[in-house]
Amino acid sequence: MTKLRFKAVALASERKPVEVKKPTSKTSEYYGEKVFNRKAMSKYLSKETFKALNNAIEKGQSVNRNLAEHVAAGMRMWALENGVTHYTHWFHPLTDGTAEKHDAFVEHDGQGGLIEEFEGKLLAQQEPDASSFPSGGLRNTFEARGYSAWDPSSPAFIVGDTLCIPTIFISYTGEALDYKTPLLKALAAVDKAATDVVHYFNKDVKKIIANLGWEQEYFLVDEDLFMARPDLALTGRTLMSHESAKNQQLEDHYFGAIPERVQKFMEELEYEAYALGIPVKTRHNEVAPNQFELAPIYEECNLAVDHNLLVMSVMDKVARKHSFRILFHEKPFKGINGSGKHNNWSLCTDTGINLLSPGKDKVENLRFITFVVNILAAVHKNNGLLKASISSATNAHRLGANEAPPAIISVFLGTQVSDILDKFEKSSVKDAIVVDSKKQISLGVGQIPEILLDNTDRNRTSPFAFTGNRFEFRAVGSSANCASAMTALNASVAEQLRLFKEEVDGLIKKGKSKEEALYEVLKKYIKESRAIRFNGNGYSDEWKAEAKKRKLDCETSVPVIYDSYTSKQSIKTFSGILSEIELHARNEVKWETYTKKIQIESRVLGDLALNHIIPVAISYQSILLTNVSKLKDVTDNYKVLGAEQLRLIEKVSTHVNAINAKVHEMIDARKAANNIESEREKAVAYHDKVAPYLDEIRYHVDKLELIVDNEMWPLAKYRELLFIR
Ligand code: ADP
Ligand code: MG
Repeated sequence: MTKLRFKAVALASERKPVEVKKPTSKTSEYYGEKVFNRKAMSKYLSKETFKALNNAIEKGQSVNRNLAEHVAAGMRMWALENGVTHYTHWFHPLTDGTAEKHDAFVEHDGQGGLIEEFEGKLLAQQEPDASSFPSGGLRNTFEARGYSAWDPSSPAFIVGDTLCIPTIFISYTGEALDYKTPLLKALAAVDKAATDVVHYFNKDVKKIIANLGWEQEYFLVDEDLFMARPDLALTGRTLMSHESAKNQQLEDHYFGAIPERVQKFMEELEYEAYALGIPVKTRHNEVAPNQFELAPIYEECNLAVDHNLLVMSVMDKVARKHSFRILFHEKPFKGINGSGKHNNWSLCTDTGINLLSPGKDKVENLRFITFVVNILAAVHKNNGLLKASISSATNAHRLGANEAPPAIISVFLGTQVSDILDKFEKSSVKDAIVVDSKKQISLGVGQIPEILLDNTDRNRTSPFAFTGNRFEFRAVGSSANCASAMTALNASVAEQLRLFKEEVDGLIKKGKSKEEALYEVLKKYIKESRAIRFNGNGYSDEWKAEAKKRKLDCETSVPVIYDSYTSKQSIKTFSGILSEIELHARNEVKWETYTKKIQIESRVLGDLALNHIIPVAISYQSILLTNVSKLKDVTDNYKVLGAEQLRLIEKVSTHVNAINAKVHEMIDARKAANNIESEREKAVAYHDKVAPYLDEIRYHVDKLELIVDNEMWPLAKYRELLFIR
């Protein structure tokens, strides 16, 4: 093992950047060449089919059999011309990542040969025997198989020799078994609810589009060093290792020059992403050594989610070509920053208005305030749910760890928008309606500058921040499927907007003018949702105490946080999106996943501690003992001359004994937890009784790392893992 470590260090340090075959054409020319996008559609589909398909996509209507037949024929022709031999329905089961099952395009031709075939029904629907995916008991209860069904709003694409068709994944009785189904429903709900509300201001709007721009953080590690760390390879994070003397203190990595090996990786990644129609734009070094970020230009939410998942799998593949392994874990290394995935979210109309951009006049600004205030109210009411939507065993390491927001959802508005809302709360409709520029100034509503100064006033400690023309949900984990957070957020805002419309219309019916009604309800919401607004330091202990007083959800245990999914409020929020049965079933999956992740970590740590660390520590101790006994052979003064050796012998014993005892206690805790029937209680036991040992054992292992002869230490150290040359 020791040999493996040093071999890996040597290989990693000699590795050269991999040259990338660069396309000779401009980015705009090969952009989307592997996507069955509008350009390809217009070439391979008849005019009528093209029009009918676009119509169905824009209106969110289902595609009938006849249309599917025509689209499939065009798609097949396009795919075959691009060297494709297989196709797959590509979906997002309730695990990390995506699923695909490839089938060849071939069918019997009836004369002993084969022909290339791809019928409409194969495009529209499939029944993959994907019975091993988690369903939280839904499929047992209903004894049904899972179906995948085409999502025409996300275009098909080619990976290698395979045509990938984005699909939803549902049970025979229609329950969602994936992330995409509820996301599409939440997006439809927010479209409907926001369109209704926007009609107070703009009658011509027909559709509201939720946009998402994600920022993906990740780490790269040399592949040989990665393989020399079984914990990293099996769990995605290092379960032990002392901090490197130098890590991110000097802030010399952040925005620094990108190492050439990494630069080459990024170039190839970007090329692949562009070919797949993913508009990647930003790349830079992040705060921690070996940490980087990739961000595209924002897109429609459903497409952006698909693109994030797709790019994560492309990143993994390209990293391997460059002899790296990519880490999406939220906290692969202790003592340095972890990785998140900021979700920049906004609502736009089909007429091109960003509803989160302050406007030029009174009406536009009242519209801006309407949406901001409703979002505040939605986040306030659903703060527990939103936290649940980003909570996982892995993200728990990052939240509240003084680098990412705490496990409390609050909204940062910045001083400017806060002031506007405060003034609005005290204003009356007369203030705004009177065309008196002075009054408007004092009110602030008519005078919000188009680009807010707050753009620069970024609060990095806030989990949900207004950043000029969008909200940035920063608590999302780097390994997460954005759909989870985006479903919860869009569903919350949709429910809130529906309620708002009801209340405003109610007042109008009672004889109030539209403006009066809007003012009255908005002012009430500003008051009611005040508790969610926080512009201060989210890392501070004072905030934790204050948040408790404000009755915000302060729970930190991930399995308990999931309870929010089935709260009264959440069931209302998800009405028409996820049924109570589905919510319960999905929580079963979440608890099971949580348990399994901690269980795997606990097993890996136990094995490594017993098989790698203790034997090496004892071998080193034997050397010390031999040394002391040899000293004793030659001098009576051995206790003085061997003082340091004796001290180390004792220390090694202390740590070895502690590790041994704690590993066995941890195994007992696991056994006890495994006997618990309920998935929720089991996950709680893993959180309360098993997980704490991971830190306790690590503490002693890391102390040993500082004592034991470097030559003997079996695992690659942080200083070796973390600095790509
Ligand atoms: P930061 O300064 O936070 O690192 P950027 O300005 O680079 O971020 O933008 C981050 C992401 O936000 C990008 O994906 C960008 O396209 C996206 N974004 C910008 N404007 C909007 C918007 N109105 N709605 C949604 N996303 C947006
Ligand atoms: Mg950002």
